[in-house]
Amino acid sequence: MSFLTHCECSACGATYDDAALLNLCRCGMPLLARYDLDAAARVFGRSVVRDRVASMWRYAELMPAATPEDVVSLGEGWTPLLRTARLGGRLGLENLFVKDESLNPTGSFKARGMSAAVTMAVSRGAKAFAIPSAGNAAGALAAYAARAGLPSFIFMPADTPIANRLECDYSGASVTLVDGLITDCGRMVAERKDAEGWFDVSTLKEPYRIEGKKTMGYELAEQFDGELPDVILYPTGGGTGMIGMWKAFDEMEHLGWIGPARPRMVSVQASGCAPIVRAFEAGAEFAEMVAEAHTVASGLRVPKAIGDFLILRAVRESGGTAVAVDDAELLAGVRELAMTEGILAAPEGGACVAALRRLVDTGWIEPGERTVIFNTGTGVKYLEALGPA
Ligand SMILES: *Cc1c(COP(=O)(O)O)cnc(C)c1O
Repeated sequence: MSFLTHCECSACGATYDDAALLNLCRCGMPLLARYDLDAAARVFGRSVVRDRVASMWRYAELMPAATPEDVVSLGEGWTPLLRTARLGGRLGLENLFVKDESLNPTGSFKARGMSAAVTMAVSRGAKAFAIPSAGNAAGALAAYAARAGLPSFIFMPADTPIANRLECDYSGASVTLVDGLITDCGRMVAERKDAEGWFDVSTLKEPYRIEGKKTMGYELAEQFDGELPDVILYPTGGGTGMIGMWKAFDEMEHLGWIGPARPRMVSVQASGCAPIVRAFEAGAEFAEMVAEAHTVASGLRVPKAIGDFLILRAVRESGGTAVAVDDAELLAGVRELAMTEGILAAPEGGACVAALRRLVDTGWIEPGERTVIFNTGTGVKYLEALGPA
C-alpha cells in the first residue's frame, strides 16, 4: 500500500534504508521520508481517496506504514475545515477558514505525528518510547504507546499544563518533571535512551512525525477541491507541521493533485519565545537559541528548533512572513474565536487570530484572499492559562 522507498537527510542528502529504526542522520540533522512518486502518480489520484477512512491514513500510498495491520491509530486527522464568516467579517476578510485540529484524539494535532511515528517504530522493533515535551506531544505519545501496548517515558517542564501531566499519568506513562525547559528535558532523554533501550520520538529526531503532520496539507487540497489557500497561518514551535505541509505540497504537485502555486506560509510565535521570527527578520538561515523562553502557549515554548532552517526555508520560498504576538494578544484571540465561532481554541490557535489581525491591518493580506488559520489544539487542556482573570 505504501510507496515509501527510503529516508534522506534534509541537510547532507545521505540516504538510509527505511527498514531500520531511524533517528537523526550521522551528520546530526533530520531525516525525511521519500517515496516513489512516479509510480504513486499512476495509481494515487485525488478521486481514489474520496470514499476512504475518515482519518489521515486515507493517504496510505504516501504514508509510511507497509500494511494496514501495522497502523497504530485512534482516528487522527480528517479534521473539519470551517468557514468562519463572522470572525472574518470582524477582521475584514471575506474568505477565512479555521482548520480545527482540536478534534484530534488527545485534543491536539500531535496525534497525527505520534500515530505515524509509533506505527513505524513498532514495526521496526521498538520496545519502549521516550520524549521531552512541553505539553501535547507527551499526551499523544502516552496515548499511542498505550494503544500499541508499550511503555513510554516522558520528561516535561514542571510548569507544563496539568491536563498534559494527568493524561500521561492516566495512560500509564512514566513521567519525570524537570525544573527547566524542553531543551533541558531533551538532554535528559539523549543521555539515558541508549542505556534504557528507549526509542526517542523527539520532534524531528525521527522521520515519521513529519509524515503524520504533512497530511494537513493533503486534507486542505481535498477540502478545497484541488486548490490551496492563498495564505496559511501556522503557530510554530518545532515546526513539524510547517515543514510537513511544505513537503506535502511538493508531493501533491508531483502526483498531479495541484499545480505549482503555493500558499504564503506565515509562522506565528509568541513574543516570549520567537526564534523563527527573529531569524526571519535578521535574514538568517538558522535561529538563535532564546534565553528565558516564556509563554502560556506551551506548544510554542521551543527555544531552539532543530529544523529551524527548514521552517525558514518554507516561509521564504513561499513568500510568507513571521509574526510574534504577546500572551495578552493571543489570549484575546482565544476569546474572539470562541465568541464569534464557538471554537474554544488552544492559546496557540489564539495566536493565529492575533497575528491575522495584524497582517490584515497592515495590508499584507488582502480582503478577498483565501486564508486558513490553524487551531492546533483544544482550549480545554489549558485551564490555568484561560482561568479566572
Ligand atoms: C506542538 C504544538 C504546536 C507547535 O507545533 P509544531 O508543528 O511542532 O511547530 C502548536 N500548537 C499546539 C497546540 C501544539 O501542541
